[in-house]
Amino acid sequence: MQKPENETKETKAGLNFIEQIVAGDLQEGKNGGRLQTRFPPEPNGYLHIGHAKAICMDFGVAEKFGGVCNLRLDDTNPQKEDTEYVNAIKEDITWLGFKWGKICHASDYFPQLWDFAVRLIKEGKAYVDEQTSEQIAQQKGTPTQPGTASPYRDRPIEESLALFERMNSGELPEGSMVLRAKIDMANPNMHFRDPVIYRIINKDHHITGNKWRAYPMYDFAHGQSDYFEGVTHSICTLEFVPHRPLYDWFIDQLKEGKDLADNRPRQYEFNRLNLTYTVMSKRKLLALVQEHLVDGWDDPRMPTICGLRRRGYSPEAVRKFISMIGYTKFDALNDYAMLEAAAREDLNARALRVSAVLHPVKLVITNYPEGQTEEMEAVNNPENPADGTHTITFSRELWIEQEDFMEDAPKKYFRLTPGKEVRLKNAYIVKCTGCKKNDNGEVEEIYCEYDPDSRSGMEGANRKVKGTLHWVSVAHSLPAEVRLYDRLFSVENPAADERDFRDLLNPGSLEVLTNCYVEPYLATQQATNYLQFQRIGYFTYDKTSTPDHLVFNRTVGLKDGWSPKK
Ligand code: ATP
Ligand code: MG
Repeated sequence: MQKPENETKETKAGLNFIEQIVAGDLQEGKNGGRLQTRFPPEPNGYLHIGHAKAICMDFGVAEKFGGVCNLRLDDTNPQKEDTEYVNAIKEDITWLGFKWGKICHASDYFPQLWDFAVRLIKEGKAYVDEQTSEQIAQQKGTPTQPGTASPYRDRPIEESLALFERMNSGELPEGSMVLRAKIDMANPNMHFRDPVIYRIINKDHHITGNKWRAYPMYDFAHGQSDYFEGVTHSICTLEFVPHRPLYDWFIDQLKEGKDLADNRPRQYEFNRLNLTYTVMSKRKLLALVQEHLVDGWDDPRMPTICGLRRRGYSPEAVRKFISMIGYTKFDALNDYAMLEAAAREDLNARALRVSAVLHPVKLVITNYPEGQTEEMEAVNNPENPADGTHTITFSRELWIEQEDFMEDAPKKYFRLTPGKEVRLKNAYIVKCTGCKKNDNGEVEEIYCEYDPDSRSGMEGANRKVKGTLHWVSVAHSLPAEVRLYDRLFSVENPAADERDFRDLLNPGSLEVLTNCYVEPYLATQQATNYLQFQRIGYFTYDKTSTPDHLVFNRTVGLKDGWSPKK
């Protein structure tokens, strides 16, 4: 694995390299001093953390320099696109805290793109090719060997015009013909070897309905859409570097020498986000959803924005992570642990501290009067005193974590063990007196005695004991279901693995605990998204949680305790 990029290539002014370009262009007065970007997702899936990186760039740079960023739905392939995705995309961008100028669609420009394609045919710069895609691929050549011209390359213009019309009539089968730009079959840049610019898809489009059957290809639609819309900086990821000359070529044709000054969109590229232990390909994410290998696009293990949201990430945590990794011009693989570190830092500042016992065992305080209760004060967030306090009920019988008791403990064990003292958080110091076991030797109940003069906050109560345990009262707690999530994949770089990605899923990525107890305060706090179960980790309510059946998702543990399984 490559080292995470700590190097964000920022200048003294705190600008990343794209922002520096934008600042320079604005200073030079390019595009009349305008700044316009776009975020151009294809609505064929939900947005993921990689898209968040692009969103922070596209919207962020516009915000920073007083420009506009439009949301452009790159909807040129009706086979895979759907309004469900469009709505999810809007929701996720808004959740991340960004505002678009306009919502645009590549399909808004289908008429103009069609006219442009017709013009190219008339100018002898495009032709209809009736070969199969396999034949066309075979003729492409290699970067060092020129390609072979299609037998249709020099067909009469009138013929291409008539066939192009027929491509859009709905009467031709898909794949029977394509429109290609006539550029240069020997160009060292493969994208110039007569790229396909229109193909037939006999499917209705979620916006244009049955109007079109000939649909433009990405390379033909994207740059032109930028131009029609007035985009100045078309920011994308590094895999589009080799497409850039073609992007410029089409714009040059489109402009026809008009307005040649400098009023044109320019493409700039940054490194895409790759994260360990997950995949970013929408095709693979869709397969996980469709094959029910996860619980939908918003499964908390998914790298999707909605998955992270359901997992308990705040938008600020996602943005913090994006700024931690920065933007560069070389590809890398970022460590999933960095995303978790960003979440921890963010949640430490905002999470409501509460008590929950995930693997309960009963602790009986034998010298505490039966039937007696006390309301203990619990601080909501020590990082932010303004968040105040709430109370938690203390009684004779408590649930504590099984792992907080050991009958024969080593010297450095600072939790409950016979003869030793610990503090019960926000309450008293107790001394363990023993336990009761069942026939299988399992601990059923633990016994202790409390020191009535040691109540937290009482004067002179701060006698030093090493360990502090969390607890909830047996009679005053609520049952809960808690879902613990781990890495979705068990290999570091599933995208680079030859095996089928389904076989690389981590079988232990979800552990459901159904026998947990939480303090009742949690039943009244469902508006609070960010929780810390003290001593355990950060949690949030799952979308299925109700006051009658509380369900929590673990966002991230308190410390990075994770290590790859050997
Ligand atoms: P896929 O190929 O899996 O469908 P995509 O990259 O084509 O994904 P788009 O919806 O076309 O997905 O992407 C919209 C924008 O988000 C593009 O500008 C793209 O460069 C950017 N983007 C997508 N994935 C990443 C990533 N992992 N890191 C950074 N930017 C990304
Ligand atoms: Mg794409």
